[in-house]
Amino acid sequence: MTQQEYIAREDKFGAHNYHPMPVVLDKGLGVHVWDTDGKKYFDFLSAYSAVNQGHCHPKIIAALTEQAQKLTLTSRAFYNSSLGEYEQFITEFFGYDKVLPMNSGAEADETALKLCRKWAYKVKGIAQDQAKIIVAEDNFHGRTISIISMSTDPDSYGDYGPFTPGFVKIPYNNIEALENELKDPNVAGFLVEPIQGEAGVFVPDEGYLKKAYDLCKANNVLFIADEVQTGIARTGKLLAVDWEDVKPDILILGKALSGGVLPVSAVLANNEIMLTIKPGEHGSTFGGNPLAAKVAIAALTVIKEEKLADNALKLGEIFRTEMRAIKSDMIELVRGKGLLNAVIIKPKNGKEAWDVCVEMSKHGVLAKPTHGHIIRFAPPLVINEEQLMEAIGRIKEAFKAFE
Ligand code: PLP
Repeated sequence: MTQQEYIAREDKFGAHNYHPMPVVLDKGLGVHVWDTDGKKYFDFLSAYSAVNQGHCHPKIIAALTEQAQKLTLTSRAFYNSSLGEYEQFITEFFGYDKVLPMNSGAEADETALKLCRKWAYKVKGIAQDQAKIIVAEDNFHGRTISIISMSTDPDSYGDYGPFTPGFVKIPYNNIEALENELKDPNVAGFLVEPIQGEAGVFVPDEGYLKKAYDLCKANNVLFIADEVQTGIARTGKLLAVDWEDVKPDILILGKALSGGVLPVSAVLANNEIMLTIKPGEHGSTFGGNPLAAKVAIAALTVIKEEKLADNALKLGEIFRTEMRAIKSDMIELVRGKGLLNAVIIKPKNGKEAWDVCVEMSKHGVLAKPTHGHIIRFAPPLVINEEQLMEAIGRIKEAFKAFE
């Protein structure tokens, strides 16, 4: 089949809720993917930071295949021999009393919202149905009805009402706005992305997270970090909140928790919060399945063994320096942290970020625009300096085509 035929088939039989780049991928290994014609690319999206450990990492695939032949799913109706091992491993890894395993990032976010509300009523003592959660404008936490009720992006929430009440939206990176809303005694939590990924890798001012955390503490409000995209070594530290020595009351993880192998997400918290949810009050058929448990242990082990946070830190600096040195009037700004970066594109002669991405794909580098004029660059963290420099060379060539 030609790539056009693959694309036409998806177009005919699949819902049109995505607008993919016109590339049909068939194989992946490490930092590379190959299309159905055998053309090789650098993957600079990493499935929105789910493939931090690189495509088909041998240790993660070994854990997957070994467990897949033994036991894949029991549901939580019974205990299984892998879940406890994983629970102990991940709670020690991130330093929390307990974990609540889910599958997608959105589900983990929903879980965090429910935990926060339970804590509000059971511990903080807010009157029933009065709890409020503060969120930031331009957030992205997923696609469920409650999550889009927090969104300020019409593409996310348009025509999906009525919406879930109980969310207060304030500008991101604005401490005064947070301080103001925290005066309301019915506020139970502040949910925030340490760097807003989907908004275009928007990095807040230094000190913002720490100040926000301290304000939450002073007001007996839970600081909830959505690290689904920023977590697990992407920004040059294990967690993006580590940049400011903040320990969220509730930590939300997903994506790279499985190295891109399975949907595996998790919510971590201490007993005071986690034990407010009792048997039968929340769950998921697949959450905490033995296959996911073994895969997640392997995925986190790879992060540590291969020192991927250090690599992201070092290569991220090189990436931004090199990108800033490109002489193109289409590059307005380069920003990011570690290997989560974005380039703001200034349109030229009707050519936009999308056209730049199409041109880059011709040069063997895959990336995708977010919000029209921003291109996110987030290669697998297993990339080495030589590979990075080769990819940057190709990106430079792509920009030249617009001169
Ligand atoms: N939270 C953040 C910060 C994200 O970037 C995403 C996805 O991009 C999600 C949550 C939702 O994750 P999922 O697509 O696995 O539901």
